[in-house]
Amino acid sequence: MSKPTKHSWAEPYKIKMVELLKMTTPAQRKKAMKEAGFNTFLLRSEDVYIDLLTDSGTGAMSDQQWSGLMMGDEAYAGSRNFYHLEETVREIYGYKYLVPTHQGRGAENIISKILIKPGDIVPGNMYFTTTRLHQELAGGRFEDIIIDEAHDPENEFPFKGNIDLNKLEKLVKKYGAKKIPYVSMATSVNMAGGQPISLKNLKELRAYTKKHGIRIIHDMTRVAENAHFIQQREKGYEHKTIREIVKEICSLTNGATMSAKKDAIVNIGGFLAVNDWDVFEEARNLVVVYEGLHTYGGLAGRDMEAMAIGIRESVSDAHIHARVGQVIYLGEKMIEYGVPIVKPIGGHGIFVDAKKFLPHIPQDHFPAQTLAAEIYLDSGVRTMERGVVSAGRKPNGENYYPKLELVRFTIPRRVYTQAHMDVVAESTAMVFEKRNKIKGLKMIYEPKYLRFFQARFERITD
Ligand SMILES: *Cc1c(COP(=O)(O)O)cnc(C)c1O
Repeated sequence: MSKPTKHSWAEPYKIKMVELLKMTTPAQRKKAMKEAGFNTFLLRSEDVYIDLLTDSGTGAMSDQQWSGLMMGDEAYAGSRNFYHLEETVREIYGYKYLVPTHQGRGAENIISKILIKPGDIVPGNMYFTTTRLHQELAGGRFEDIIIDEAHDPENEFPFKGNIDLNKLEKLVKKYGAKKIPYVSMATSVNMAGGQPISLKNLKELRAYTKKHGIRIIHDMTRVAENAHFIQQREKGYEHKTIREIVKEICSLTNGATMSAKKDAIVNIGGFLAVNDWDVFEEARNLVVVYEGLHTYGGLAGRDMEAMAIGIRESVSDAHIHARVGQVIYLGEKMIEYGVPIVKPIGGHGIFVDAKKFLPHIPQDHFPAQTLAAEIYLDSGVRTMERGVVSAGRKPNGENYYPKLELVRFTIPRRVYTQAHMDVVAESTAMVFEKRNKIKGLKMIYEPKYLRFFQARFERITD
């Protein structure tokens, strides 16, 4: 045997309790997929073997977090856990004022209502489904100002989450800075495949927006994963800790919305955090209408406790290296099998390029939706569509046709093993082998909002 040449990453935890999975037969999966209208969101979780639908709320909490649940102070007002969470957000992220919400979109609703006036323009580094919808419902219009490289799945630029300042300047010139309440800046851009923004780019953005009196609102759902890529790739940050980098990112923004179901490894929770007292005052007032009193925001005390502990765990270097290490392990397997994926490999999942995988299926026949269904049928692995179905319709009713037509294999935090990742890569490779025989889908039911969650499809038979 050859000598080892490196120390591999491995999980910085051991397993204390397991959850048994149901194994299904091809016939059972066929029936389940048909009942689900070829939409993986409509499958019953019991019929799924390895669930890569999302990394949202699906992580495994630590024994510390589970203990935290027992420490819940369920007072209606002024829960001890709220103050612990507030302290943690100040210490780890540096934002001054905290408003808890039931999850990320609760915070998006509130900040959109406060800052956006009808007719405003909200530029951002690629849209996110719920974020853009709340901006639109508040009367704003989202404008994508991410660099062009982000729309090209082959381009290996290391910071595909970066903002193109020329695109921003064009909007400022065209509409005036007064029409732009804030730049919606996401770290680890989800829809681009979990791609990071660099601190250099963020500093330039900060300088530019400051000059024009425009705020930066940070979608910090996966800020720790973004920090990992900065540490690995950006000059001057190789010796900084994840904690230091996270804090620096946040310091360059005016406020943030957080889905704690991702980075912070809880099953439910989120928050809005801001530095301006007047924005906080309004948010504290609005949260009472939509979520709950400002010291619980739709959460139980125990949820806030688990979130505070999870935030601290999420910025540990050992945690984040293993987390992203597992994602990269799966991505490299896919590449070995010749499966076309978005590069570089992102922080929270693998994004398979369905346009390349199924080039014979036009976008109107939903190639990514089709591929997600086929992978489930092959092995019981559940993934999801991130393409024309997810993109939805414009306020005028026309379909958005995104350049990227992807199937997302999202890896829950601390849940699956390397052997599970092998099964996922092998199954995708099996489907790839028979790709020429696969036919597309037609949509037979379309809900009005966020259609990807509930739309139903049928196989096209010709
Ligand atoms: C999940 C997510 C949200 C919305 O958060 P929820 O907790 O699902 O409401 C917003 N932005 C990004 C980038 C996300 O991934």
